Amino acid sequence: MELEEVALSLIRGHKEGVYQNELWKEMEIDSRKCSRVVSKLLKDELIIREPAVSNGARTYLLKVAEEEKPSFELLLAGEMFSPCAGCRDACQPEYCPKLAEWAHCLMENEESS
Ligand code: SF4
Repeated sequence: MELEEVALSLIRGHKEGVYQNELWKEMEIDSRKCSRVVSKLLKDELIIREPAVSNGARTYLLKVAEEEKPSFELLLAGEMFSPCAGCRDACQPEYCPKLAEWAHCLMENEESS
């Protein structure tokens, strides 16, 4: 397993986050190597870090970046779900009554909000 994967899994295991100055001890690597691993995870946007103080020493609190929850908002026109999701009809959007109805519903909802 790559060091980045190990670090990510350890960070993920700490719900409230883990201090960087504890992470390298848990990983049994030196702090420099840990900094490189953390930089890579930050660059890949897999974690976030906040300045923190642990046992009187300045360090960072590392947390797993929020995973984006799937949003279906863009597929909804009011209560109406996009007819294209899962549609198996021969698609000609410009002549599709289902799409026209959904688009109409979408416009009505935008006007009323
Ligand atoms: S436009 Fe009409 S035919 Fe094409 S995928 Fe959407 S619902 Fe289906």
